[in-house]
Amino acid sequence: MGKRIRQAKLYILATALLLLIEQPVLWDLYRPAATANAPLPTGPFVALTFDDGPKAETTSRLLDGLSQRGVRCTFFVLGVQLEGNEDLLRRMANEGHQIGLHTAHHKALAGLGPADFSAEVDELRFALTALLGPEDYMLRPPYGMISRAVEDRAAAPIVLWSVDPEDWSDHDAARIAAHIIDNAKDGDIILLHDIYDASVDAALEAVDALMAKGYTFVTVEELFALRGVEPENGKVYRKLPPA
Ligand SMILES: [Zn+2]
Repeated sequence: MGKRIRQAKLYILATALLLLIEQPVLWDLYRPAATANAPLPTGPFVALTFDDGPKAETTSRLLDGLSQRGVRCTFFVLGVQLEGNEDLLRRMANEGHQIGLHTAHHKALAGLGPADFSAEVDELRFALTALLGPEDYMLRPPYGMISRAVEDRAAAPIVLWSVDPEDWSDHDAARIAAHIIDNAKDGDIILLHDIYDASVDAALEAVDALMAKGYTFVTVEELFALRGVEPENGKVYRKLPPA
């Protein structure tokens, strides 16, 4: 078989497979695989999420490691961390990572009045929109603290987590990585913080181990699309297991 015919057949096969899957976001997800003629990922899928950044040294190192592995994840950023880190945020967006809201000053949102809530969430949304353009920025409330008022005022899907290695508690990269590797299941959302060196080391170690087991890392947005779930504003999501 000629090389061109072989390539044409592969192209048709890849196109047919993609057409079977009706989520447009998957075109993005599979773009790198299509160019490498690699098999399409079928799951299990997990979403790594990082809170409290960005922080220049640790977040840059994480982005380097994720880029080397072709892995995308989700960053819930703080407003107070934006200044001076604008290029880092643009890099995140350019490299296909999802960016979400973690409030302006890491305040517990439950109990805030409407004006204070708006200063924490809406102002960060405005700042990110000015920097990166309009997106559906999802919300992760600090400490995972939610209330009826938080849900009512969020104007965004609320993303919590299903795997929490408590990376802030001991900065022990080996323990944190083992917790992720031992507990991650299809559809899980994993909580980490990109402001600690140990968390960056643990994340990359867990990525290597879980990819070797066949896991694919996706953004939270991609996880919704893969499950055929339309994210709803004010609704709380902790994981997106297979139906
Ligand atoms: Zn936080």
